[in-house]
Amino acid sequence: MNRAESLRLSARLFEMGYTRAFRPEQADVILLNTCVVRQNAEDKAVNKLQNLKALKKKYPEKTIALSGCLVESVETTKERFPFVDVIFKAGDWPQDWLKSVYPSLPLKANISEAVTIMQGCNQFCTYCIVPYRRGREHSRTIEDIENEVRVLVARGALEIVLLGQNVDAYGQNLKPRVTLADLLCKLNKIEGLKRLRFLTSHPKDVDDKLIATMASLDKVCHQISLPSQSGDNEILQKMRRGYTIEQYWTVICKLKEAMPDIALSNDIIVGFPGESLKAYQNSYEHIRNGRFDTVHIAAYSTRSGTIAARTMTDDVLTKEKERRLKELENLQQNISQEINQSLVDSTQEVLFTELKNNKWQGRTKNDKLVFVNCDGNLIGQTRMIHITWSGAWSLSGKIV
Ligand code: SAH
Ligand code: SF4
Repeated sequence: MNRAESLRLSARLFEMGYTRAFRPEQADVILLNTCVVRQNAEDKAVNKLQNLKALKKKYPEKTIALSGCLVESVETTKERFPFVDVIFKAGDWPQDWLKSVYPSLPLKANISEAVTIMQGCNQFCTYCIVPYRRGREHSRTIEDIENEVRVLVARGALEIVLLGQNVDAYGQNLKPRVTLADLLCKLNKIEGLKRLRFLTSHPKDVDDKLIATMASLDKVCHQISLPSQSGDNEILQKMRRGYTIEQYWTVICKLKEAMPDIALSNDIIVGFPGESLKAYQNSYEHIRNGRFDTVHIAAYSTRSGTIAARTMTDDVLTKEKERRLKELENLQQNISQEINQSLVDSTQEVLFTELKNNKWQGRTKNDKLVFVNCDGNLIGQTRMIHITWSGAWSLSGKIV
């Protein structure tokens, strides 16, 4: 989401006539977009700000702007970083700054573009800072989103990735109430659009209607990002995720029944307060049995102000968190490798999006990264590719 917002912010600046500076010393305006979901992300942002402070001292005429989740409130952020000229919250745009309106669309779209369909989150999982920094759920109207997607497709986009913290709750605050399934049906009709993806889904909100809609629409990719966060019921309860591991499996079974080729992605936190060795082993078995295509694993870090920070003790030692993280990463690397290995010698439909290290890079409908080495320009092309090599994170092959 931050990356998508940064692209929109830079599109706005380009539209206003700014061009890219390649070093901070050359820039008139420096806009830092920040993430604080974990402590190391926040540390990185604060380090960058220290560098910008030194730069501002040397070049006081430069404008330093700050946005993203580091901005808890404009006033407190101004007190903490008085050298910053312009401060605004994530997803906002200061109306009086550079006389413009947010959001803005790029004049030339990428093949794959992200569109934020809702802001905020109502869940308040006990470890998570997102609801505090991005506020409550607020969905954009179907009409508004459809217009944006039409413009992006007219400007060259072939794939749209719909973004939100919990896209399955899309439309709940709208009158009349609409759902993600309704939105997908509408967008699926847009001529020129080839693929639709969405993330992130919440296991307690994936319903039968959404599953049936996903399975029936030709442009919707068979892929879901469905974080379980833990494989242990006691920890899930302490996280206030709102489901048991059995309920999670029921959703996965329904998805697989409707779409046997569906690719599954998961997020896991290790070292949550009170995570015993046994609870961790439940997460290990969950990942081992789940055979997810990808798993993002994070070591728990306390986020100030959250329910966990206020009421629980961060009692798993850093070293032990790191051990659990490494062990799960190794397990998942082997699983991803095995899944990808099974695709060698198959033929896959790949949409190419960019050139990387002299190779054309694209993705299959269920999000496998594929590289192809060939003459000519493949960007924006969909080709059938015979897979000849696999690794844990990508595949490569030849045009059929
Ligand atoms: N809305 C999504 C996740 C958003 S945050 C969901 O409900 O799953 C992105 C990821 O960061 C989460 O999936 C979680 O694994 C990780 N994360 C969030 N807070 C964290 C914390 N305090 N410590 C470690 N990882 C955290
Ligand atoms: Fe954070 Fe996701 Fe839980 Fe919302 S649903 S509080 S964004 S982890």
